[in-house]
Amino acid sequence: MRKQIVAGNWKMNNDLAQTETLITALKSHKNTSNAEVMIAPTATNLWQAYNSLKNSNIEVVAQNMHFAENGAYTGEISANMLKSIGINTVILGHSERREYFNETDELLAKKVDAALAKGMNVIFCFGEELADRKAGNQEKVVESQIKNALFHLEGSAFRNIILAYEPVWAIGTGETASPDQAQEMHAFIRKTLADKYGSDIAESVSILYGGSVKPNNAEEIFSKTDVDGGLIGGASLNAEDFFAIVNAF
Ligand code: PGA
Repeated sequence: MRKQIVAGNWKMNNDLAQTETLITALKSHKNTSNAEVMIAPTATNLWQAYNSLKNSNIEVVAQNMHFAENGAYTGEISANMLKSIGINTVILGHSERREYFNETDELLAKKVDAALAKGMNVIFCFGEELADRKAGNQEKVVESQIKNALFHLEGSAFRNIILAYEPVWAIGTGETASPDQAQEMHAFIRKTLADKYGSDIAESVSILYGGSVKPNNAEEIFSKTDVDGGLIGGASLNAEDFFAIVNAF
């Protein structure tokens, strides 16, 4: 059985006090689903969040990292640094990193390698823009994002990879892909994996959907065969909404 996962991407929100408040609120909710729960606070609050949640079932994950082990990369954070404070999972390739920080598939391939080399898990994000979908190119775009960043890997590496399909036009816009559009793309992603690595590996990889997942649409999205969870932005900043989504499984 594939893992079901609901991960909250807090993005650049919540200072230390707000982080503590939200974590306290999260701890007051019960996970009645089988989904694994993750939250990704901003880098300065990872250590605090890790300590507050280390005896809970909520995993604290990072939003980004650099590919180098260490060295002259002012402002950056390495896999070693994350691991040294107990962080074992990192989100890579979020569309905001691609758009505002010029992260390319080629760079992301290096980041994926660096994370895997340190035994970390990767939540690898990708997804088409509105213009791609309007032109009917969404599958081509998604296929090339996956191939360019991941298809140099051995099949065994996919034990440590979670995929997150996030159509850019659905992120923070209130517009979600319809459950059928999500299913169609997730099935395509799984087929792309199966063609390269075989169906055992393809069937074992969790594929999350992200883009305006809310308490009122999560259940229908998560009911789709190839949707194994969600990467939640806005709605993860409210404990009640976030757990309503977790418990939509
Ligand atoms: P959203 O963000 O839920 O606010 O649309 C999703 C994401 O960017 O991961």
